[in-house]
Amino acid sequence: METILKITNLNKIFNRKLHAVKNVSFEIKKGNVYGILGPNGSGKSTTLGIVLNVVNKTSGEFEWFEGKTSTHDALKKVGAIIERPNFYPYMSAKENLELVCKIKGTSFAKVDEKLELVGLLERKNDKFKTFSLGMKQRLAIASALLNDPEILILDEPTNGLDPQGIRQIRDIIRIIASQGTTILLASHLLDEVEKVCSHVVVLQKGVMLYQGSVHNMIENNSFFELKSANIQQLKEVLQNHASVEKLIEEEGRLLVYMKQEIAAQEINSYLFERNIVLEHLVKRKNSLEEQFLELTKN
Ligand code: ADP
Ligand code: MG
Repeated sequence: METILKITNLNKIFNRKLHAVKNVSFEIKKGNVYGILGPNGSGKSTTLGIVLNVVNKTSGEFEWFEGKTSTHDALKKVGAIIERPNFYPYMSAKENLELVCKIKGTSFAKVDEKLELVGLLERKNDKFKTFSLGMKQRLAIASALLNDPEILILDEPTNGLDPQGIRQIRDIIRIIASQGTTILLASHLLDEVEKVCSHVVVLQKGVMLYQGSVHNMIENNSFFELKSANIQQLKEVLQNHASVEKLIEEEGRLLVYMKQEIAAQEINSYLFERNIVLEHLVKRKNSLEEQFLELTKN
């Protein structure tokens, strides 16, 4: 799979003291939807700013399109929205996009197509100043897509929107992704990343805590919930199981985290052979939220 962007050991230190991005490395592959997830101040916008050449890196490397073109030329194939949408208030949606076409040197023919994609075709002759924040954000997405970029970069795309507006933006992101455009979005919202992204990079205070598929992040953290008449005995027996990573007692149940995937039957028969009969055995998965809280606990 083609690599769109490769970041290696990236660091950003503001004013010689604030280490906003610490040794971050990850790769963006063509066709996937990536989320950079982290609480406010974790370095998401700084990372995006660096790869878009609006923030200077302190050290490390980033490379667009496998280094085949200069960053300057590569950025012509990148559509990005990293600030609040800003257009001419007294011009219509269509006029604003045509102006962008002139600047980017693309054909006006794309204007209607992109307005339709973001659900604004019927409003194309209305002035920008009459738009809701959600509509402004959708117009910004249409604008970023005018030259059919390889990758669309969005920083907190649903910030400040009402639930309906959030839903519309997320649906649009999914449609754009389904058409083959790679997407990189930064968000502090777990459910946003869980709902729209295939891959996630978790940042906290500039440190990358996890990177991989959203599916694996959840899958790798399955655990068992067990209950038996004597929880102490249950604990002692499980402590001797080679695959057990940690045991947590919670409301009369024992939560068993494994070093590797193990079938429920295996745990059950292991305990039964050692004279423990379970009252309760459930295999559970952490939600991304639990996973995220676990990762960012310290
Ligand atoms: P996020 O987008 O994850 O909320 P940012 O990348 O905006 O985080 O910020 C990361 C850290 O860097 C924060 O502590 C922020 O205050 C600091 N920071 C961001 N931009 C600047 C700047 N221009 N000058 C100084 N500090 C900055
Ligand atoms: Mg930010």
